[in-house]
Amino acid sequence: MLTDPSLLLDRTLIGDRWIFAHEQASFTVTNPATGKPLGQVPDLDAGIAHQAIDAAAEAQTAWAALTAAARAQILHRWCELLRANAEDLAIILTAESGKPLAEARGEIAYGAAYIQWFAEEARRVYGETIAAPQPNQRLLVLKQPIGVTTAITPWNFPNAMIARKVAAALAAGCAMVVKPAEETPLSALAMALLAERAGLPAGLFSILTSTQAEAIGQAFCSHPRVRKLSFTGSTAVGRQLLRQGAERVLNLSMELGGNAPFIVFDDADLEAAVEGAMRSKYRHNGQTCVCANRLYVQDGIYDAFAERLAAQVAQLRPGNGFDEGVTLGPLISDRALAKVEAQLEDARNQGARVLSGGQRHALGGTFFEPTVLTEVTAAMRIAHEETFGPIAPLFRFHDEAEVIAQANDTEYGLAAYFYARDLSRVWRVAEALEYGMVGINTGLISTEVAPFGGIKQSGLGREGGRQGIEEYLETKYLCMGI
Ligand code: NAD
Repeated sequence: MLTDPSLLLDRTLIGDRWIFAHEQASFTVTNPATGKPLGQVPDLDAGIAHQAIDAAAEAQTAWAALTAAARAQILHRWCELLRANAEDLAIILTAESGKPLAEARGEIAYGAAYIQWFAEEARRVYGETIAAPQPNQRLLVLKQPIGVTTAITPWNFPNAMIARKVAAALAAGCAMVVKPAEETPLSALAMALLAERAGLPAGLFSILTSTQAEAIGQAFCSHPRVRKLSFTGSTAVGRQLLRQGAERVLNLSMELGGNAPFIVFDDADLEAAVEGAMRSKYRHNGQTCVCANRLYVQDGIYDAFAERLAAQVAQLRPGNGFDEGVTLGPLISDRALAKVEAQLEDARNQGARVLSGGQRHALGGTFFEPTVLTEVTAAMRIAHEETFGPIAPLFRFHDEAEVIAQANDTEYGLAAYFYARDLSRVWRVAEALEYGMVGINTGLISTEVAPFGGIKQSGLGREGGRQGIEEYLETKYLCMGI
């Protein structure tokens, strides 16, 4: 057990040394449900980022030289420790992110599943031989670790977003320096502590707690030893990092924002579609990159769907994630609350109708009532921007071609969902949606065994699946004369 979670609140692991908050500048981590401080963590600068990268470079060569089986063994041990400490990790996660404890437990299981998956994948890195064009030649392709890597992660999945990057990097034989979101550094610190206990050699996985995101991003892009940056966060910051990385032609993976359409056709199973919409829309209070952002419902089923969805939404219980029966936490910040309110006001001003919710919750703070809007149109802001909050806007549509055009009318291309039973339609729509991931008759698609990622301005690269480890491997071609 992590006998006392508060042990983790004041220090971070850089290379082989723990740096304490009281030794230098620090910042406060706050519980978004109560507004109360949870503790202090070190506020590290670009200079320390350089030290962490140097330590990673020193450790990585020996790590890459180990057998894949030896690396896998340490990853398996780390995964077991995550599972053994799941309850403490979930408590830390709920405290700093506000998500209900049941969801936090789910995220820890999800994060651990990525570590297990990549421990297994470490042993399945294959090269190839190529039929040579000359009799006195032999041609081979090797896969080798990319080297020292870095990651910047968001607050909405403080465990899983790190797990699926670090586990893939370590499995491939790379080292990684991670800057977690400033809102949720504690889950990252707990993961690093458990990795150390699992026997992971020092320097391979450092955590840079910091409020100086831009300076750290610059250090990650400019340090000559860094070979890769994997970023999960907003498209705006992703774009900035791509520009910075261009200077050194840095290998970049990007998991960016989404604007997921959720389409319900007339022939859908209505109950299943409502259930899928609830899961997709309201998990983590609508603060997930794959959550349904625009719900398109066909004419014939629109009113029935709206009524049933509103009835389900009325059952949701906002509150402190530690309280029994709570299903919805707070929004992460005042900024997030302001964005939700602004989109709602714009929609109302342009004729949208509030079927349920529609205002700040009586709990105060950053709590907002789960909301269902009807008669929403493409002219409204909510049709084009990522909401990241508990609003379900229902758009009415008439035919398939029209809804496909609307669903694809966005610069994003992360996740899309649709409910339909006609088999020909299922294939047509699945192929026509311009998205990296499509959920068909389901509102939950994420799993460690499948490639997660977006197209268009939602990202570059994939995490999980057999594709995930490829992001951390270089391809080397050998041409041998014999
Ligand atoms: P954000 O881009 O503001 O922050 C993400 C991370 O980037 C944080 O660690 C932050 O400190 C850091 N950061 C901020 N400015 C930076 C800069 N100039 N240089 C370097 N780093 C910087 O995003 P957010 O609001 O915290 O997170 C929500 C966003 O993340 C949403 O858009 C969501 O869709 C996206 N997201 C995407 C995925 C995915 O897999 N595609 C998963 C989760 C979240």
